[in-house]
Amino acid sequence: MSDFLDRDWTNFDVILDHTLAEARRFLAGLADLPPGITPPSLFAPLDAFDEGVGAQAALRIFREGYAAWLNGSAGPRYFGFVTGGVTPAALSGDWLTSVYDQNALGSDESVAPWIELETIDLLRRLFSLPPAYSGVFVSGATMANFTGLAIARQWIGRQRGIDIADQGLSAAGPVAVLSATPHSSIYKALAMLGLGRKSLVPVAAQPEREAVDVTALDSALQVRRGEPCIVVANAGTVNTVDFDDLVAIAALKERHDFWLHVDAAFGGFAACSPKYRALVDGLDQADSITIDAHKWLNVPYDSAMIFTRHPRLQAEVFRNAAVYLGEEIGPSNFVHLTPENSRRLRALPAWFTLVAYGREGYAEIVERNCRLARRLGRQIDESEAFDLLAPVRLNGVCFTLADGGCDSDLDRIRRYLDWLRADGRVFLTPTVYRGTAAMRISVTNWRTAQADVEIAWQALVEGVESFL
Ligand SMILES: *Cc1c(COP(=O)(O)O)cnc(C)c1O
Repeated sequence: MSDFLDRDWTNFDVILDHTLAEARRFLAGLADLPPGITPPSLFAPLDAFDEGVGAQAALRIFREGYAAWLNGSAGPRYFGFVTGGVTPAALSGDWLTSVYDQNALGSDESVAPWIELETIDLLRRLFSLPPAYSGVFVSGATMANFTGLAIARQWIGRQRGIDIADQGLSAAGPVAVLSATPHSSIYKALAMLGLGRKSLVPVAAQPEREAVDVTALDSALQVRRGEPCIVVANAGTVNTVDFDDLVAIAALKERHDFWLHVDAAFGGFAACSPKYRALVDGLDQADSITIDAHKWLNVPYDSAMIFTRHPRLQAEVFRNAAVYLGEEIGPSNFVHLTPENSRRLRALPAWFTLVAYGREGYAEIVERNCRLARRLGRQIDESEAFDLLAPVRLNGVCFTLADGGCDSDLDRIRRYLDWLRADGRVFLTPTVYRGTAAMRISVTNWRTAQADVEIAWQALVEGVESFL
């Protein structure tokens, strides 16, 4: 054993103590860390790489040279993208995931796969999904969309009498994917799946909305003349947090042959609260469902789930050994159900936080976040300085700078956001919504409180005054 390894093994307790001290330091300052930060492009070269330095020195080098450039994206006033933080219980579970270092590929030599199954069961209850859905953890909603669409692709092949997993896509011919306002990761997934970004057939949205016009979808399906296809429904769009009418879309299955994939990456959490549940009515009609965990579940990166009613098709795509041909693949044989082979026990942080806070804990987080988003939406709507671009349906606010004529100028929005970023009290991301340069607020962090929203509002207003 190298000297450093040997010494680190002897000093493991001290290393853990120092790691804990660094964690405490970071967490204590998290709320006041600038939510967005620009690191210097060049760091000092590491001169001791040949011999190494040992774990304690590595931690010191990191703390001194790099830690100052970590942003506060896990904190309560980071409203960019759709970004959650880490609950205390999730952190505990995440640390222990690395300590235990179990391979959750699904052998019966560890409790790991059973923990994942139990976590999936808790999540099914959280989202009120029937037992007919099986689920697996993947690294994010992009990978969940990829996995769901891979199963859909296999289904399409089966409808045409072809096993795409065995024979390849060329045997099956082109596949159409219909959607109104898909997340960019859907295109990425289609590219990775060999279906191609251009397989996406855009369907009209309702007027002034991002939700699909179901009549237009009906017509688009009609045009396909019974040829099976894939419909991607969106439950929570990133710009205006709009929701497709899942009940109406599912009803089209009576007349058309399609696979219904629902991207409910964060919108699925509407199901946690009786106040918002109706937004995802019909979710239980989907063939596959994407839900992110590192957003509203507030577990650390990287974590998401794909649920499906078709585990057999899933195993046809992802099975990893010829010896399993013809055998029944159980719900815990994750190696045969996911893109990965070896995988960390990614379910454990989710298990910890779900057990710790329960359904009521998550209903409270969702309702508080939505209440605060609505409050910001109201303030924006009533202010002369801003224009609200869409009603606040859940946890997102889409708005722009008022001031006739200028509001399609993305540069101006970017300069305003740069001011906010330098100010450091709040972090927002830019967007373009229906041709208008805009900004979005997403309230997704378990800690965000009334006081944070007040600080954020103050910063937004002062930004307009000093910048414009
Ligand atoms: C965030 C998001 C994704 C992609 O999620 P990652 O976890 O970043 O891969 C996909 N769809 C929707 C609707 C999202 O909000």
